[in-house]
Amino acid sequence: MAERKRILPKQKQENLAEKGKQVEKRKERKKKEENKQGQDKCPYMEKCGGCQYLYLTYEKQCEIKQKQVKALLGKYGKVEPMVKMEQPYYYRNKVHAVVDRDRKGNIITGVYQKGTHRTVSVEHCKIENQKADAIIKTIRKLLKSFKIKVYDEDTEYGLVRHILVRCAAKTGQVMVVLVTASPIFPSKNHFVKALREAHPEITTIVQNINPRGTSMVLGIKEQVLFGKGYIEDILCEKTFYISSRSFYQVNSAQTEKLYRLALDFAQLTGGETVIDAYCGVGTIGIVAADKAKKVIGVELNQDAVKDAVKNARNNQEENVVFYQGDAGVFMKDMAAAGEKVDVVLMDPPRSGSTEEFIEAVKEIAPERVVYISCNLETLARDLEYFEKSGYRMRHAVPMDMFPWTEHVETIVGLQRRDM
Ligand code: SAH
Repeated sequence: MAERKRILPKQKQENLAEKGKQVEKRKERKKKEENKQGQDKCPYMEKCGGCQYLYLTYEKQCEIKQKQVKALLGKYGKVEPMVKMEQPYYYRNKVHAVVDRDRKGNIITGVYQKGTHRTVSVEHCKIENQKADAIIKTIRKLLKSFKIKVYDEDTEYGLVRHILVRCAAKTGQVMVVLVTASPIFPSKNHFVKALREAHPEITTIVQNINPRGTSMVLGIKEQVLFGKGYIEDILCEKTFYISSRSFYQVNSAQTEKLYRLALDFAQLTGGETVIDAYCGVGTIGIVAADKAKKVIGVELNQDAVKDAVKNARNNQEENVVFYQGDAGVFMKDMAAAGEKVDVVLMDPPRSGSTEEFIEAVKEIAPERVVYISCNLETLARDLEYFEKSGYRMRHAVPMDMFPWTEHVETIVGLQRRDM
């Protein structure tokens, strides 16, 4: 029998359309109200779009994140209370500003408006390091007084494109990166001198040359204008090297807490072989090295691996090795070679881990796995695999790494079921 299309009576159709409109209107009103409330804390909230939870109190946003983690991981075990920040402001140790001109031709620094390449001028930000914001402000003034041209994305004319400031929380070292479209920087030495006079806390200044019309902030070529060209910071008593391009966790205070929890969950006694998968510049593995027999780090990005090797050497850790490659393939090879591993620490990107990786973990059968995640959905998906592969969730702790934003970081401790 041919399927007959159900036709709603006209009145019903109209009612439904009306209801839809009302829902839309209510949503709009809610968004407006949220923006208004957030605007009291930050005038750039709506255009910038970086802090989705500014309209809430800090307590309330932590509650929301806690509930989200519980909803997705609760079926595997208890979700412990979130580790919050005591001072949830100005935590970003890396600050990036676009340099542009407004309609009147004044030099502005700020962020790209959500979803566009239009620059929103930002004077102060609630989550960025305040020293970095002050330095950016000074650079803006200096660009004007030195009559240095600002790069124009449309005409591809001009010099200065971006400013990047990285501040080391423990050592106080500060790196300024000036991203320019060409290597020629007029009155470079005077500019550097004036900047250092205004901010003696700056320990190094780097010029990064990015002539391309891409959306990448940094180019490949660099020249050091002052200092060593890199800064160093301390995390959990270990020293780490940070260059303009190194990956480094943006919230130093919470990262220390995160790594300490990872070590707690790993229960190292000194005799273990540990894998640090998706290791970045080797931070977690190096922090774990004193308490393990051997640490093996694996990371896809070649530059990060180079930094990791340097970091291990600087900290005199002789029981740490790093390999460049895909973590899944690496683990599969480890399993095929019959290697013994006691603990796997893993901190994958937002896309999470893979079936291949978890299959290999099952085969290698370490006693414990510590999974750090910045994406709740992929974490929940991967935990499902782990559960099926004979692992039980023993701990789950939400960690607030990115206050005022909707991002949720979670650390999970897994134990082999037959232990
Ligand atoms: N553990 C580090 C970095 C975590 S970020 C820290 O705490 O600082 C995730 C890392 O996974 C990035 O460095 C990224 O380059 C790396 N990565 C992404 N895909 C990968 C893959 N398939 N195999 C190995 N590493 C990968």
